[in-house]
Amino acid sequence: MTERPSDPRPAPSDTPSPAAPGPATSGPATHGPAAVARRNAAVRAAVAQGLVGPGDPLVALLDVTGIRAGARALHTAFDQVTAPGARVLHTFAVKACPLVAVVRLLRDEGVGAEVASPGELALARVAGTAAAHTVLDSPAKTPAELREALTLGIAVNADGRQELARLDELVDRVGGDDIRALPPLGLRVNPQVGAGSIDALSTATATAKFGVALRDPGARDWVVRAFLDRPWLTRLHVHTGSQGVPLELMAEGVAQTYALAEEVNARAGRQQVDTVDIGGGLPVDFTSDERGPGFEEYARLLAHRVPGLFDGRYGLVTEFGRALVAKHGLVLTRVEYTKSAGGRRIAVTHAGAQIAARTVYAPEQWPLRVASYDAQGLPSTGSVEVQDVAGPACFAGDLLARGRALPLLAPGDHVAALDTGGYAFAHPYAYNSLPRPAVHGFLIEEDGARVRFARVRAAQTISEVVAESGGAYGEGLLF
Ligand SMILES: *Cc1c(COP(=O)(O)O)cnc(C)c1O
Repeated sequence: MTERPSDPRPAPSDTPSPAAPGPATSGPATHGPAAVARRNAAVRAAVAQGLVGPGDPLVALLDVTGIRAGARALHTAFDQVTAPGARVLHTFAVKACPLVAVVRLLRDEGVGAEVASPGELALARVAGTAAAHTVLDSPAKTPAELREALTLGIAVNADGRQELARLDELVDRVGGDDIRALPPLGLRVNPQVGAGSIDALSTATATAKFGVALRDPGARDWVVRAFLDRPWLTRLHVHTGSQGVPLELMAEGVAQTYALAEEVNARAGRQQVDTVDIGGGLPVDFTSDERGPGFEEYARLLAHRVPGLFDGRYGLVTEFGRALVAKHGLVLTRVEYTKSAGGRRIAVTHAGAQIAARTVYAPEQWPLRVASYDAQGLPSTGSVEVQDVAGPACFAGDLLARGRALPLLAPGDHVAALDTGGYAFAHPYAYNSLPRPAVHGFLIEEDGARVRFARVRAAQTISEVVAESGGAYGEGLLF
């Protein structure tokens, strides 16, 4: 059996993290009244400290306490179901919130990085995530990306047959005769267990583009043979889907992958597959502040459905994204104008498609909660009216919320788009050349009286927008 680091879990960084502070409200830090109290304090302070105002009508905020608490809940959930000393590496799917400071914060909480592009790998490296705590996925890795990963010592999950053939060549070159010189290498499989409620995010349908489709004729035998032929192939990887995929279906995908690992190991006569990477995909509750990230429920379900995976024979890798960040981010914007059309009241704000593209283009699948605050940043108390909350972009569908009952908004009030910490403001969309908003993290001081902000990303300047739009090549088409 190949040598592997005995415990791939990142060591906590040298600076000890302070106990998660929060306002006096008791309860879990990931959700519920404590999270709402922190959010309200942050909005009030953002207005008071001028992070949002007439000249700066849009800002994104991240709740550092909530992110830390979520990471701790993840560790605890799997600690409770794994055998003592089990090798567990939790990684953060960087695509969910590709901001260096967020990857760094999670690293501080002992969470590594799952990356799927050269950009994501680069920012994980800037965040200081160790190679041994980084996993490279992606269905389209180039030869150069594969070579870089192997040279850096980053685990790779091959997505299919052709990629495995590329790895064959590289393994000979990088590892020579000593496969211990190689990082852990695995193969992604698609258990074809079916779709959740959002097709675009269902990665384990019969025809999904990811991994080796396990139920296709001959595929399973091919996979087993591929492992027997390659002693350096030691991991199986599955990611059954994201938002909209029920936990049962995700557990079914993991169960199928575990059964395959057992089959490979029985045929090999040794524990060749020593680690199963179970992906991420935990859905988030976008309807209220009541539910936590659900790591505990999922870990318990997995341990119940697939007990052999937790008895100590296998290492585990997880790759959660949305569940670690979505609930801990919000976008705060000023209401610029209000109007009424055809009897519908409309508040025109600066938050639209550029910070919530999925919500604007697929509102049925990605509804967002919005909260209204007054001109001082205090929760609005006015009479409730049905309103649309519109963004600044020049198309009619640019609405954050449609027909929503909210305290009546007025110019100068504020609107917060909640639960936008994942796959939203960190994924700006350049429609109408709208600049990316600044992102600030916030921390409520121990006594709850003071809110500290730290910059995570500067707002894009207009000259950066021009540069990104080819400002340097303005004469380029005048051949
Ligand atoms: C997107 C993705 C994840 C993270 O999914 P979430 O739904 O954000 O948890 C993990 N692994 C892989 C391979 C992915 O593509």
